[in-house]
Amino acid sequence: MDYEKLLKRAVKSIPKNVFEHSRFTIPSVTIYQEGKSTIVTNFKEISDKLRRKPQYIIKYLLGELATRGHFKVKQGSAAFIGRFQKDTLNNLLIKFTEKFIRCANCRRPDTHILKEGRFTYLICEACGSKRSIPAP
Ligand SMILES: [Zn+2]
Repeated sequence: MDYEKLLKRAVKSIPKNVFEHSRFTIPSVTIYQEGKSTIVTNFKEISDKLRRKPQYIIKYLLGELATRGHFKVKQGSAAFIGRFQKDTLNNLLIKFTEKFIRCANCRRPDTHILKEGRFTYLICEACGSKRSIPAP
C-alpha cells in the first residue's frame, strides 16, 4: 500500500466532527509586563469565548503557574505575579480547554458545568455526554 492510500485511509478514520469543529479557536493572549507582574489585557474576551467565568479560568492558571493573581473586573484583564511568556499562557489555555471545556466524546466546545453535591460534571449540550471533572 502506498503512502497516498494510507493517508486517505487515515483521514477517513477521523470522525467528521473533528473537522467541523476545528474552527473553534481560543483567542491568543495579549500581554504586557508591569513591574514583576504579567497582565493579560484580553482576559474577559477569552472567558466570554470559552463561556466560563474569568475567576474559574484564573484559578486553574494560578494552580498551573504556581503563583498568585486576580481578575480585574473593571479592566477585564487578569494580573499574574511573575513574568510569564505568551506561549506559556496560550498553552495553558489550550490545556484548560481540553480538560474543562471540550467534550471528550464529540469534541464540541458547547458544554457547561454541573455541580451535584461534592461532584462536578462537564455536560455536553451537543451529544448529552456527562463526565466527572475535578472541582474548580
Ligand atoms: Zn459531546
